[in-house]
Amino acid sequence: MATIRQQAYQDVLNRKAKHSDYNGKISSLFGENVFHLDVMREFLPGDAYKSMVDAINSGNGVRLDRKMADQVASAMKDWALTKGATHYTHWFQPLTGSTAEKHDAFFKPVGPGRAIEKFDGDLLVQQEPDASSFPNGGIRNTFEARGYTAWDPSSPAFVIGKTLCVPTIFISYTGESLDFKMPLIKALHAVDTAAVEVCQYFDKNVVKVNATLGWEQEYFLIDKAFYNARPDIMMTGRALFGHASAKGQQLEDHYFGSIPERVEAFMRDFEQEAVRLGIPVTTRHNEVAPNQYECAPIFEECNLANDHNLLLMDLLEKIAINHDFHILLHEKPFSGVNGSGKHNNWSLSTNTGVNLLAPGKNPKSNLQFLTFFVNTIAAIHNNADLLRACIVSASNDHRLGANEAPPAIISTFIGSHLSSMLDELEKNVKSGKMTPQDKTELKLNIGKIPQIMLDNTDRNRTSPFAFTGNKFEFRAVGSSANCASAMIVLNTIMADQLIQFKKDVDTRINGGDAKDEAILKELQKLITHSKKIRFEGNGYGDEWVKEAESRGLNNFKDTPRALGVWSEKKTIEMFEKLNILTEREIEARKDIDFENYVHKIQIEARLIGEIAQNQIIPAVVEYQNRLIQNVQGLNAVLGSDAKAATKSQVEIITKISAHLNSMKSLCDTMLEERKAVNKIDSIEEKAVAYCDKVKVYFDEIRYHADKLELLVDDELWPLAKFREMLFTK
Ligand code: ADP
Ligand code: MG
Repeated sequence: MATIRQQAYQDVLNRKAKHSDYNGKISSLFGENVFHLDVMREFLPGDAYKSMVDAINSGNGVRLDRKMADQVASAMKDWALTKGATHYTHWFQPLTGSTAEKHDAFFKPVGPGRAIEKFDGDLLVQQEPDASSFPNGGIRNTFEARGYTAWDPSSPAFVIGKTLCVPTIFISYTGESLDFKMPLIKALHAVDTAAVEVCQYFDKNVVKVNATLGWEQEYFLIDKAFYNARPDIMMTGRALFGHASAKGQQLEDHYFGSIPERVEAFMRDFEQEAVRLGIPVTTRHNEVAPNQYECAPIFEECNLANDHNLLLMDLLEKIAINHDFHILLHEKPFSGVNGSGKHNNWSLSTNTGVNLLAPGKNPKSNLQFLTFFVNTIAAIHNNADLLRACIVSASNDHRLGANEAPPAIISTFIGSHLSSMLDELEKNVKSGKMTPQDKTELKLNIGKIPQIMLDNTDRNRTSPFAFTGNKFEFRAVGSSANCASAMIVLNTIMADQLIQFKKDVDTRINGGDAKDEAILKELQKLITHSKKIRFEGNGYGDEWVKEAESRGLNNFKDTPRALGVWSEKKTIEMFEKLNILTEREIEARKDIDFENYVHKIQIEARLIGEIAQNQIIPAVVEYQNRLIQNVQGLNAVLGSDAKAATKSQVEIITKISAHLNSMKSLCDTMLEERKAVNKIDSIEEKAVAYCDKVKVYFDEIRYHADKLELLVDDELWPLAKFREMLFTK
């Protein structure tokens, strides 16, 4: 009988591409399943439509009054029924990292044999999902096991399949946020207010600043047969065992290669669905590792872009299965080849249509660009540890600092031209009164930026936080993460920085400095102050680790250590002052991160033990027995001459025994460690112990298992091999 692995291989060889039936224009699908403004205009009375426009534009979770909410709910339902929807759900973003939903039917019996489709303002605005099982970091004790989802009118509702999905925030009975969306909306509001204040120095018409986010989602695809034949991949999203295949990514043929037909059929399918949901996906390509791909939309307002990323991750998973694939969003599914990230391209844009991180056409707009640019660098400098903490996860730990991903040390790359520009500014701005000549010189310099940017081609792929011409690109974010975690921190620290900047500039102006001069002097101060965070060299090199240490930059290699910054007084003060998170909420979130970490490592440790014991050892022993039989046979036939004839077999038998014993005893020791670590009460100490005392065995155990893979008969090896999972076409 064929083994699961052999059966999987056969299944994959027999697969055919499944092409979608739709051959029309993609543009005619755009937003088809979204309750967007044009649809609202059609379905809503005038005053309700206007309330919705206001709510969307304010973007601050504005509440609609009861009457309006009833009208909007009724219109949403009528529209959703035209799309074939039968159910509705409050769609929310619990701290598990994925999205959650609980479906209810529109259908309501109203008498014997009579029923109607019902959806009113109450059902739209607030719901109580049975939320006691979502992580809450102790905020919601089980006796008050209630959490509410509340409608976020700034994100449009949409229909997936036969369900109307209403984007919501998720809060505890006592009003604390239990999700990613609520603090994100608050952080976006904070950066909006702070940036508008600073923009007023340059343009009185600016009344609203939106943070923009353009994410690039990397992922792996593997055939569903292989996925189901690998318990480790199925349960943890990554291969806990497996020797690298002889050929990996060294030829770079995948990156430049064409997309296989089956994969392209899958991509077409999910892109169509994404476009129907209003996600403007435009880019797709192969990534560096075999079977690794990327998709990216055009950037959007940050809250919407983040909803769209979560929706897309969900779509990827669902549609991959229709094509007999499984999507792996894990940051490092296969050791030995590149991992996956999710670059977060970020900028700020005004209601007047200006990108604040794009150099302008004249010295005045360039001074505005420099202001936001330098303040971003200062924010990164002052809060590097928070930026590290907002991208933590057990899975991202495998990727950061590996040789193809940004290091765990936070720094920023701005390119040689802008670097020298900042250096000059630092020198040229005089601390005393500036002469007209000083000012002319400065203006000339600042005026040069657009020309510089045009031919500024140097890009550094190794930086975790790089300036790329008209935006910053936060590259350390993990492929499986909710971008909100990074965006909450980035927009909060930017708001904090801009508020401080405004205060300092105003103080100078009140002291008699002209406005431009006050701004320039403050920028100079920030440039000097934040120098150590700027790094133009190779972020992947060992030299950088040493240099960063000498600069006093932290290098938190694992999740438990990186999380410490959340407990610092300065962190709590900033988040409380800006009304984004309370101390209790911060504590709860940190605990959830620790808990998630412990659970992930615990599950991996269990699976390592199981697979070693129940799959690897039996196969290895069977092969060893065959060799032993062979040796015994040769001894019987050849007698005293058998020594030479059995030499290789005996060697293999001995090697197998050595690796088998090492693997088994390491598994046993790891199990004992786990038992001890599980007794620790404090979640923080437990996470540290799981990292230092349990996880440390993973690579050692794997080393011996992977050696055994190379020794044992291919026919007998129970786990699908890397070459099969990554290269079978
Ligand atoms: P790459 O990093 O792969 O070379 P690009 O630099 O062309 O790609 O763009 C990457 C992403 O940056 C795209 O998703 C794009 O939508 C996004 N982007 C471009 N401008 C902005 C902006 N002002 N704000 C946020 N994201 C942006
Ligand atoms: Mg990029």
